[in-house]
Amino acid sequence: MTNTVLTAENISYLDQLSESSFELKKGFTTLMGPSGSGKSTCAMLLVGALKLSSGKVSYLSDTGTTSLNIYPETNSWVKKIQLESAQNRRVKRHIIRYCGYVAQTPELPRGMTVKDYIYNVRTAAGNKLDVRYLDWLLNKLGIAKNMDKIAASQSGGEQQRTAVAFALANKPSLFIADEPNASLDTKSGKEVLELTRSLADNGMSVLWITHTPEHQDYADNKLYAENGVVYE
Ligand code: ADP
Ligand code: MG
Repeated sequence: MTNTVLTAENISYLDQLSESSFELKKGFTTLMGPSGSGKSTCAMLLVGALKLSSGKVSYLSDTGTTSLNIYPETNSWVKKIQLESAQNRRVKRHIIRYCGYVAQTPELPRGMTVKDYIYNVRTAAGNKLDVRYLDWLLNKLGIAKNMDKIAASQSGGEQQRTAVAFALANKPSLFIADEPNASLDTKSGKEVLELTRSLADNGMSVLWITHTPEHQDYADNKLYAENGVVYE
């Protein structure tokens, strides 16, 4: 059994991320760096939301290695779920099943209720949902009361927590969260951090992107970003 969740080898993107190599290990990892250092670009490359300019990302699972370096460019995770290009289907399916991702500014689908978004979109992506876990999660995130509301017309903080719920709905092996408490108040931000830490204690791996040094207190492993380079 490997302790490595994924490897990035010399990955780069235009002039936004220079060649970076690192391993993401099991457990809770923070990616810390100042604004503009390349954190979000790195996250989008890892989940295939941007197409690599160079390098390779490999997801290492017990069932083998899946590499991606062939992704179509898209800036929306939801769009990606609906995208069906045969060429990339295998890789995409793997990542959607395996990895939950919250973008720094999540775009929720227009006109869809929170319930439809989380349950139906997730199920359509081929995921089996554990309803009891989902109830627990939605209560923890404080959005259980919003199930029948239009997801995109909630407050900024509620939208962010909805995006977190969506990402965590199918118990991903890996959760990549790009400053997920940026638009949350201190209290609910800490709740999301502690919820994530508790899921990591139960076996989920986490890449937690932040520019708040104190969040590193929750980390098992640390990555850094500076001047467009991500390093260990
Ligand atoms: P971070 O998440 O650490 O704040 P980003 O990955 O968002 O950093 O940005 C890295 C660099 O790429 C920055 O210099 C930023 O200005 C630039 N950048 C980010 N998004 C875009 C974009 N859509 N078009 C052009 N440049 C961008
Ligand atoms: Mg960012």
